[in-house]
Amino acid sequence: MDKAQAMDSFVAKRDQLKLEPQTGKIRLKKRTISNLFRYAPRDRAASGLSLSDFVNVIGIDTENKTLDVEGLTTYERVVDFTLARGLLPLVTPELKHITVGGATVGIGIESTGFRYGFVHDGLIEAEVLLPDGRIVLCNGNDSHTDLFHALPNSYGTLGYILRAKIRLLSAKRYVHIRTSAFSGLDEYLEAMRLATENADNDFVEGLFFSADRFYLMTSRFTDNVPYADDIVRREVFYKLMQRTPDVYLTTKDYIFRYDPEWFWNIPESMPYQIFRRYAPRPLRNSGFYTRYCEWERTWERFLPWQRKNDKEPLIQDWQVPWENTRELVKYALENVDLGGKPWVAVPIKTPLSPTLYPIGANRLYFNLGCYCQVKKVAGREDYHYTRIMDRKCFELGGIKMLYSSSFLSRDEFERLYNGSAYAQLKARYDPQGKAYTLYEKTARIGSP
Ligand SMILES: Cc1cc2nc3c(=O)[nH]c(=O)nc-3n(C[C@H](O)[C@H](O)[C@H](O)COP(=O)(O)OP(=O)(O)OC[C@H]3O[C@@H](n4cnc5c(N)ncnc54)[C@H](O)[C@@H]3O)c2cc1C
Repeated sequence: MDKAQAMDSFVAKRDQLKLEPQTGKIRLKKRTISNLFRYAPRDRAASGLSLSDFVNVIGIDTENKTLDVEGLTTYERVVDFTLARGLLPLVTPELKHITVGGATVGIGIESTGFRYGFVHDGLIEAEVLLPDGRIVLCNGNDSHTDLFHALPNSYGTLGYILRAKIRLLSAKRYVHIRTSAFSGLDEYLEAMRLATENADNDFVEGLFFSADRFYLMTSRFTDNVPYADDIVRREVFYKLMQRTPDVYLTTKDYIFRYDPEWFWNIPESMPYQIFRRYAPRPLRNSGFYTRYCEWERTWERFLPWQRKNDKEPLIQDWQVPWENTRELVKYALENVDLGGKPWVAVPIKTPLSPTLYPIGANRLYFNLGCYCQVKKVAGREDYHYTRIMDRKCFELGGIKMLYSSSFLSRDEFERLYNGSAYAQLKARYDPQGKAYTLYEKTARIGSP
């Protein structure tokens, strides 16, 4: 299908969209998995709105380096399409089944963030289905500029992106990952900051494990490599990069380097070793594992006995201004036990401060990420580590992403996430309150 036909097909689907009479609030229905990690039970009374057909690439403009894409298209599909033409989104999330719409409204981030900011910084325009069924086009220069700048961190509460036009960058076939090890925090952070100023680096990211074990990865596109490492079958990326200073991956493998192991969330059991070696490729991805875990949780409910569960997820990203990084990292290392799993560090500089995610523009921030299961802390409230890290982050002038749960009071939430501007946006774009509010979704009921 060429671009004109794909656009016609999009328009036909868009024009047929009808919102059914609702019994409750709107909830997004889709075929691919969700990458939310909310701890509160979900509101099952909400009416599902199916956007499952909006999953296609519409077309590419290779000269101007832009891509038109439907809102629920996964990044795996986007990367396959753009990479075949030597291009990639400015910022591509690391899990294959994250979608363009989900990452735009959910503050997507990656190791190109020091140069290009967040996923939403690559958005040129969006067609948005508002909660009452109206469809508007916004591009930052029209009568819906307020909506355009409020999409990041809106999580579908102001409407769903049906189509997006995004910016692309030139890519090569491979990525060379160069890892340096550090035993001290100060020298590590200084090396990372300097790496963001080096025009030769295409990607900057770190992993660290303890107060004397830090790794910095500075990576570059290249067309020539001596060999390509296999991180789907033979190696596990986060282990390989500790063992060898030079890792060579195809660009697609680099982009989705944490997807085969769902970061490091797959138990390293013998059955899994066999699975990772021999399972068909379509099963070796985070989407499959997410579905498997959902299925396991469902059938466990029917067992006559309950398995003892002394673990809970600590899945979160926090950003603090660069000058406060040292304090945040020290605090994390001294107060949180990840059971040997790594913290992920990404420097980030956004060109624009979005309305609902008040992070300083053109200022270097440090993104600290943590994506694993941790032991519950005896005698403490559930999600103790999430709670104390959130507090520390806010105390240091930072902000956290809301794809996980938040434990803020309504007043604190509104102060931190620009509640007054949000109220005005809700009044304009969802006057009948058909969609959840951001607070309801992210802090109260955990609804998708
Ligand atoms: C384990 C884990 C690892 C992660 N790793 C990364 C990472 O490496 N890089 C990164 O950038 N992010 C990462 N994230 C965060 C992720 O990008 C966000 O959670 C994102 O919102 C997920 O989008 P999704 O496409 O999976 O959508 P969903 O999870 O289905 O939905 C996310 C939210 O966005 C809304 N939404 C979905 N589609 C649309 C749309 N088209 N228009 C408007 N609203 C929509 C939904 O209503 C929902 O509130 C991670 C999250 C987890 C849990």
